Amino acid sequence: MAVLVTGGAGYIGSHMVLALLDRGEQPIVLDNLSTGRRDLIPAAALVIEDEAGDQLLVRRLIRENGVDSVVHFAGSIVVPESVARPLDYYANNTVVSRALVEACIQEGVENFIFSSTATVYAADAKQPLSEDEPTIPISPYARSKLMTEWMLQDTSRAHGLRAMSLRYFNVAGADPKGRTGQSTPMATHLIKRACQVALGRAPYLDIFGTDYPTPDGTGIRDYIHVCDLVAGHLLALDALRAGAESATYNVGYGRGLSVREVVRGVEAVIGRPLPVRESPRRAGDPPVLISDPSRIKAALGWQPQLDDLPGIIRSALNWEQRLAS
Ligand code: UDP
Repeated sequence: MAVLVTGGAGYIGSHMVLALLDRGEQPIVLDNLSTGRRDLIPAAALVIEDEAGDQLLVRRLIRENGVDSVVHFAGSIVVPESVARPLDYYANNTVVSRALVEACIQEGVENFIFSSTATVYAADAKQPLSEDEPTIPISPYARSKLMTEWMLQDTSRAHGLRAMSLRYFNVAGADPKGRTGQSTPMATHLIKRACQVALGRAPYLDIFGTDYPTPDGTGIRDYIHVCDLVAGHLLALDALRAGAESATYNVGYGRGLSVREVVRGVEAVIGRPLPVRESPRRAGDPPVLISDPSRIKAALGWQPQLDDLPGIIRSALNWEQRLAS
């Protein structure tokens, strides 16, 4: 049985494709290559450069390749950009997902995994966040994702498709074998930016906000290694194939690290100080986002294997070095 991976040439999607290949599965990558890179995908995987919302194409790919499961990573992910261009986010995320889900239902695909986000939770939700906390997304990005979660819940009640929505916390790090990593040149994520500074590609790291109500005044996040996140997808896939019901799971480690703790972590790995500049808060950044991962652990048996900040940083740094060479 083949697995259709939309956005499979992107950061998380390419790790998923490698993990599928590593365990002998046949991934079919559907990616418009707007941010993804074909060269991250080994020749063993079929890569189709096209839109995940093209129903005729998706239906044909499902039929011709015997696809039994779809993992849907494709989408736009930059929060400030979603504030400036909301309709693009509703088009690329919600509307495309609608078309994809309909194509899956029409072709009788039963297993669907969706990339959602921790930013769907209300700003005043209780930390660490359980899946039962209220969802009141503030950005168009988060709304576009939550709307897709709702569509999946409704369609799985009405049709044979069962769906797992995985709410990602802060994904970082890269394939330990150095085969893929975060490759978007303009990425804004903390660990990626810190690695770029460590390699001298930027003069300093901005610390966005030093007056948050946190012990050291900087924002706290739950950084999770991309390979542990992908392991959660494989477990979700196995569970769906075994007949599990639709569900929504947080995927994070359940521990928070401040920006300053991450900076110290990078300094420990590189063995010298990292140039930083204290800057104002970034608009829309919540002070703290920490996962309560009890549900995915209990339901799917998910157990993090790479919960180690230095390891995450080393893998990200190795990939960043490779990108330059
Ligand atoms: N951050 C920072 N400097 C950067 C990038 C991020 O201080 O160059 C902070 C940001 O304010 C937040 C945390 O690091 O508190 C994680 O931000 P990131 O953009 O990695 O992920 P987000 O949580 O926004 O999805």
